[in-house]
Amino acid sequence: MLLRHTKKASEAVDRKALTINPAKTCQPVGAMYAALGVHGCLPHSHGSQGCCSYHRSVLTRHYKDPIMASTSSFTEGSSVFGGQANLLTSLSNIFSIYEPDIVAIHSTCLSETIGDDLKQISEKALADGKIPEGKFVVQAATPSYVGSHVTGYANMVTAFVDKFAFKTDEKRRQVNLISGWVEPSDMTELKRIMKVMKVPYVLLPDTSDVVNTPLTGKFKMYPTGGTTIAQMASMGDSIGTIGTGAFCTKDAAIALENKCKVPFKITDVPVGLRATDRFIQAVAKMAKVSVPDEITKERGVLVDAIADMQQYFHNKKVAVYGDPDTITPLVEFLLDLGMKPTAIVSGTPGKAFMKNMETILSEKCPEAKYLNGPTADMYRMHTWIKENPVDLIIGNTYGKYIARDENIPFVRFGFPIIDRIGHSYFPTVGYMGTLRLVEKILNALMDYQDANCPEEKFELVM
Ligand code: SF4
Repeated sequence: MLLRHTKKASEAVDRKALTINPAKTCQPVGAMYAALGVHGCLPHSHGSQGCCSYHRSVLTRHYKDPIMASTSSFTEGSSVFGGQANLLTSLSNIFSIYEPDIVAIHSTCLSETIGDDLKQISEKALADGKIPEGKFVVQAATPSYVGSHVTGYANMVTAFVDKFAFKTDEKRRQVNLISGWVEPSDMTELKRIMKVMKVPYVLLPDTSDVVNTPLTGKFKMYPTGGTTIAQMASMGDSIGTIGTGAFCTKDAAIALENKCKVPFKITDVPVGLRATDRFIQAVAKMAKVSVPDEITKERGVLVDAIADMQQYFHNKKVAVYGDPDTITPLVEFLLDLGMKPTAIVSGTPGKAFMKNMETILSEKCPEAKYLNGPTADMYRMHTWIKENPVDLIIGNTYGKYIARDENIPFVRFGFPIIDRIGHSYFPTVGYMGTLRLVEKILNALMDYQDANCPEEKFELVM
């Protein structure tokens, strides 16, 4: 019983200023992941080595691929007097040794607290000749004492749009797809869907073929994947932008509209049946194409699988935690499956989450408890589970403690997953990705039933 001190919600102390087992991680992790989705880009952490080590290690553990990034290596001196000298030296070294096309600098708690101005330092680096011709530096402020990794991701994607997208006189028949934080496998699936729909697109960021590369025996500092500078530049001439997930993409879509007058539509991350429907409809409408038979067939296959196995989902209670952009459509989908998402937390702050949850849950699952922000942590979710037990937990690896202590089936979904593989290779977006999610949920429930039911209820055919 690793979490034996957790109490029922009705017996737990009410908290306002303490987070226990947060359902989020720090801003720069998101900024680093977004920067990896740009080709030839080296993420740079402006702070201490310890911060950068943590950001790299959490990404490396999740993706099981080496994550490249550099750091300003703050010392006691830079912590007091500012990190300008360190960053200027870093940029000189990075461009001469590692030769990236872009250095994407994000700040950390420390450099934000002492007030380092990344833009001003980058301009000085340019003026001092430390940024070679044709090479670029972008900056995102990512203080981790506000927001979460989701905020950091959004800030870095916005920084790329601000820096590179340009409007020319030549209109392009292409759609900008600004992706919320999903797996590289999901980004591949989004690209497949766009291809099947015959819609030219620019996907930003695109971490496929960057953090899930094959083992070839040869090291490549900058893998083949990632959105190119030319693609980002062309985004200003696109017919429109679709952002998947408001928390991660809305700021970038607004920045692009302000800068280049490209209209945008924000949809959910296409997890689940209805969120995928809305995504497909948004693409079809923006690109003025009809939905191809292949996509309709995939939808039919998903609906068929749900109908076949509906009795196993019916009225099962679920606890869900993770990022707002992904768990919102997931909660909607669980309701569509006939399940009851009764305990939901997200560590990422933002008023829209509570509003969306109320809209989705008020009629179909009024007993659901949900919260986001600093005290919406996994301890709180556990106290709710103690009060009102659930049949399934869905979330990142950190939920395995609760799942083990309470003997509840557990499906890994979200970030980080550091004790299993699969997320880098098999998507959970689109109709086919949702089908995999259905399979994972079913397998968890059925494995539990096989292992725990009385002998007379042990079935061969399920
Ligand atoms: S100090 Fe801040 S930026 Fe550094 S690892 Fe901790 S939370 Fe992240």
